[in-house]
Amino acid sequence: MSDELEVIRPESLALRHELSVEEVVARVQKVHAIMRQAMVLDHHYGKVPGTTKDVLLKPGAELLCMTFRLDPQYEITKEREGEHLTLISTCTLWHIPTGQRCGSGMGSCSTREAKYAYRQAKRACPKCGAEQINKSKFPPRGKPQEAPGWYCFAKAGGCGQEFAADDPAITGQITGRVANEDLADTENTVLKMANKRSLVAAVLNVTAASDIFTQDLDEMTDVHVSTSGMYKADLTKEQMDANRVIVPQPETTEQEEAELRGVLVAHIKLLAEEKKIPAKDRQLLSQSVLAGATLETADIAALQDLETAVAQWRSVK
Ligand SMILES: [Zn+2]
Repeated sequence: MSDELEVIRPESLALRHELSVEEVVARVQKVHAIMRQAMVLDHHYGKVPGTTKDVLLKPGAELLCMTFRLDPQYEITKEREGEHLTLISTCTLWHIPTGQRCGSGMGSCSTREAKYAYRQAKRACPKCGAEQINKSKFPPRGKPQEAPGWYCFAKAGGCGQEFAADDPAITGQITGRVANEDLADTENTVLKMANKRSLVAAVLNVTAASDIFTQDLDEMTDVHVSTSGMYKADLTKEQMDANRVIVPQPETTEQEEAELRGVLVAHIKLLAEEKKIPAKDRQLLSQSVLAGATLETADIAALQDLETAVAQWRSVK
């Protein structure tokens, strides 16, 4: 890296001028000021436990677009492989007052990602339908000689119904990680996610906010790509392609999985602390969602489910 600012002079911006040092400093200060004064933690941006960086979330990216008067436009490339769909989104940011192109970012999302490709099959309650069936630790009330049965966990949205240990309506259900049969249902989510990722990438590029923010948590496992630097705009197609380094990662490496696991586990614990979930309920939640596995052994999709379950937990009086 040279210590000179590498300034790319795209045609349209060159018509005006390149950014002065003061303008660059002012822009970065503006992002800082917006973050301090207008952004709300866990809505516009989030914290990754164990790191110093904040992650820019979609509402935060939209706020920065509003601040800098940027209009995001999306271009989607679809790749269909069997029943799987991979979408690559390019988000271009246009400066509304001048119509100038400011830069772009790319993001992709695929139904191959574990959270879409698989679902964690859990026992559902035959009475209320909630997937909140837990193994009881104690024999049924008033029948101390019988084996501990099952119950539908009311505090996590179930109905409280109890079932015998050998009730086939419960024991006959398949559990664990299974292929998601409803891939088509996830396609809209996958599109939204690809656009969200490209928007965040574009905003980070164009506003030079990547010094302040990083990409979202869920970016840790998948592809996200960008042209780097600010105002690297209006390049030729070939230059753009050369700048975009797409690294498809259908399978996460062991190290990535370990990192992701660490972040997820830390976030789950943080959420549980924040929501003051009693130890007993924490145990029940993880038993119920992880289907016998522990935070160390559960697969990533199950940990993501647990994160959701903990986030949705509410105390029942
Ligand atoms: Zn129930």
